[in-house]
Amino acid sequence: MMKRQRDILTRKAYAKINLGLDVVGRLENGYHQVRMIMQTVGIYDRLTFAAGESGVRIATDSGELPTGPDNLIYRAAVLLLETCGVEAGVDIRLEKHIPIAAGMAGGSSDAAATLQGLNELFALGLSQERLRQLGVRIGADVPYCVMGGTALAEGIGEVLTPLPPAPRCSVLVARPDIQVSTKYVYEHLDAGESWQHPDIDGMRAAIEKGSLPGVVSRLGNVLETVTAHACPVIGQIKREMLDRGAMGSLMSGSGPTVFGIYGSGEQAQAARICLEKTGLARELFVTEFV
Ligand code: ATP
Repeated sequence: MMKRQRDILTRKAYAKINLGLDVVGRLENGYHQVRMIMQTVGIYDRLTFAAGESGVRIATDSGELPTGPDNLIYRAAVLLLETCGVEAGVDIRLEKHIPIAAGMAGGSSDAAATLQGLNELFALGLSQERLRQLGVRIGADVPYCVMGGTALAEGIGEVLTPLPPAPRCSVLVARPDIQVSTKYVYEHLDAGESWQHPDIDGMRAAIEKGSLPGVVSRLGNVLETVTAHACPVIGQIKREMLDRGAMGSLMSGSGPTVFGIYGSGEQAQAARICLEKTGLARELFVTEFV
């Protein structure tokens, strides 16, 4: 029987944006090989874990999410408890703030926080590397979410190289009121002729040099062409951000979330107010890299 360290604990699960996202190939199993520059931002869900009777129970303030096996939190909890032979169960409460199905890895981040939270709650002593190995069984972005910060993600997203923290800046995140299916985006990408590949190595070098202009000039996401074609609001938000002083702006992941990089929090706040008036975004956040 494992020794329980504490009976209850809370963890933040942070969202990510992609400063760069390239698709470089396709594996036989249909997975895409990617090269991505990942960056944690200060938008987070809060998860509370309480040790209890056997089984996994989830409660959430989000009306949009399943609370059973379809929730990535559930899958992460079952995987960890079974792998480590924990007989006890857990009650998990999710306070949802990260936009859902928006390209910000909210589900993956919740899964990563669950692996980390239960590792601590039940004093299991698993290394971060082991948690990342378990995480990839839940989703390709989960290992990165276990690591967090600034990183180069390759393979299907699970081959990680930590990078120095990206240069400080303010980030305006805008989530338009549309749903984009990741499957749709990748299918259309595959059907496309040739896409412009972002300069991932140049972005990495700019981060290593601490050059914000170098990072901003290389913002690029190969999926943006597909999603922005289907959803003109993405281009409209990008233009609005640039007109309101953004150094650069890009869609994150498969979208539809768009972010703008600003030199100061004041500029980002001012842009937020302007964007609010346009009604182009359903949710707006001013945040920073974490
Ligand atoms: P990514 O950036 O990794 O592609 P995303 O931000 O586009 O992810 P998520 O918010 O992680 O997308 O959710 C995608 C789907 O996963 C949703 O349809 C949702 O129903 C399901 N899901 C399962 N568990 C969760 C969770 N804990 N939080 C959010 N979504 C979840």
